[in-house]
Amino acid sequence: NLPPLYIITPTYKRPEQLAEITRLSHTLMLVPNLTWLVIEDAYETNDLIEDVLRKSGIKYYYMVAPMPSEYKAKTKGPKPRGVSNRNKGLEWIRQNAKTGVFYFADDDNTYDLELFQEIRFTKKVSMFPVGLITKAGVSSPIVKNGVFSGFYDGWIGGRKFALDMAGFAVSVDFLLNRPQASMPFKPGFEEDGFLKSLAPFEPKEAELLAANCTKILVWHTQTKKNEPSLSLDMSKYNNSNLV
Ligand code: UDP
Ligand code: MN
Repeated sequence: NLPPLYIITPTYKRPEQLAEITRLSHTLMLVPNLTWLVIEDAYETNDLIEDVLRKSGIKYYYMVAPMPSEYKAKTKGPKPRGVSNRNKGLEWIRQNAKTGVFYFADDDNTYDLELFQEIRFTKKVSMFPVGLITKAGVSSPIVKNGVFSGFYDGWIGGRKFALDMAGFAVSVDFLLNRPQASMPFKPGFEEDGFLKSLAPFEPKEAELLAANCTKILVWHTQTKKNEPSLSLDMSKYNNSNLV
């Protein structure tokens, strides 16, 4: 009887989506007592994604949470990617979960199975390194003599919590005691804003995982983008005259 683990995965439609969700499903299939909250930035769910989730055998809930149109319509600067999705996941946790731990797992990252063993016992908030991120290569809490002593990140940006989304996990009980906690629609400050909304909580209270933050158990991999219009419609190929 392991504590339940809730994985919140934002996703959105693009040519790579099915491949990403398939690959992540194959990782999560190997993790016991897990509930997968897959939340798509869309107005409707996609049957092809539903098929992948169903055939994985994982206990899942597939929901939608579109990015508000004011952000979607933005033409310059970064958008708050995955924020409405993650807030929907938090809402689901508040309504359905009682114990255990949750973790924000983007659909394109790469996860070592040991990560899930470690985060499952988070009491408040745990933190750990993320690899393949920014020019610095790693984003991580700095640990000196077993004690938190700051953040290493390619971009500190004046943040109190200079962490990547994949670099922390939170106890369900801890969230339930903070009914106001949510993620801001603020590109670059999503993690910082969310962790600040968990006040009272200080970085030094974090549980430092992955052998005192000396091991990388999650990588911020990014898949090469294909032409947005790329068609994966097989009938098109079957009916074509190409050889
Ligand atoms: N995402 C989304 N809507 C978007 C763009 C991204 O829901 O318009 C999701 C995406 O599937 C991923 C997360 O938000 O799980 C972070 O996006 P992405 O991986 O593109 O960001 P990056 O890792 O490049 O910062
Ligand atoms: Mn990503």
